[in-house]
Amino acid sequence: MGLQDFFPKELAITAIEESENSVSIRLKSRSEHCVCPRCGKELSRRRATYNRKAQDLPMIGKAVLLTVNVYEYQCEECNRPVAESFDGFLKPGSRLTERCEDFIARLALESSCEGASRILKELGVAYSGDSIIRLLLKRLKSRPTAEVGSIIGVDDFAYKKRRSYGTVIVDETTRKPVALLDGRDGTSLREWLRHNQHVKVITRDRASEYAKAIQEELPDAIQVADRFHLYENLLQAIKKALNSEIPGAVAAEGAKEREEDLKEEVKKKRSRRKTPQHTS
Ligand SMILES: [Zn+2]
Repeated sequence: MGLQDFFPKELAITAIEESENSVSIRLKSRSEHCVCPRCGKELSRRRATYNRKAQDLPMIGKAVLLTVNVYEYQCEECNRPVAESFDGFLKPGSRLTERCEDFIARLALESSCEGASRILKELGVAYSGDSIIRLLLKRLKSRPTAEVGSIIGVDDFAYKKRRSYGTVIVDETTRKPVALLDGRDGTSLREWLRHNQHVKVITRDRASEYAKAIQEELPDAIQVADRFHLYENLLQAIKKALNSEIPGAVAAEGAKEREEDLKEEVKKKRSRRKTPQHTS
């Protein structure tokens, strides 16, 4: 097994240089055509060649830096240049290989963005905590939307209590969350419902913003108060009824006599404390 086996067939290793802290690998594209991402046409007319820099997973404790010589093709149909990409290895415009991105994202999710950044620094990968947050957000946005059934649940949650809130949507059939939306004022929910017109039943809390958003976007959908909020309603109703029926104070049998005894006991103790102590 050689080092070439760890790279796509379309990229040939042309040089390897090793220094104290890093391994630099030069790769050259062997492609003779590429597909235009806009019109899907296969392109064979090369327009230019250029070098891309990218960081790969570290190796034997050293940073791995790639210089990839790639081609730019010309699409006659769209009349624009098309940079070749290497699916599964290096995305257009990325300065990390996909396997390196995957590793960073996994590390950050298992620890924290700042923690991951510190570990990566030890491995020779310079990537700040803020860059990791941006990477995670980019991956989240590019993830295909999970398919969702026609029965969903909507509720709010706190990113930071009393400061920022979000809305979670759960598929009630699979019992899995399918979307996390910003805010809980119904704006993001309204937008989400606009793209999910197949939803028929929605369980929700008692927030009027959600009810309004659902009514406006999906007027035919059935709105159901979820069990948790029904119990909460019931408990509040019971409490209210009890408060109005039962007097504020109820004397238990014999409580009056016991109260008198206690008062007497306290009085005796106080008077004992006040009596001057004579010493002979
Ligand atoms: Zn095209």
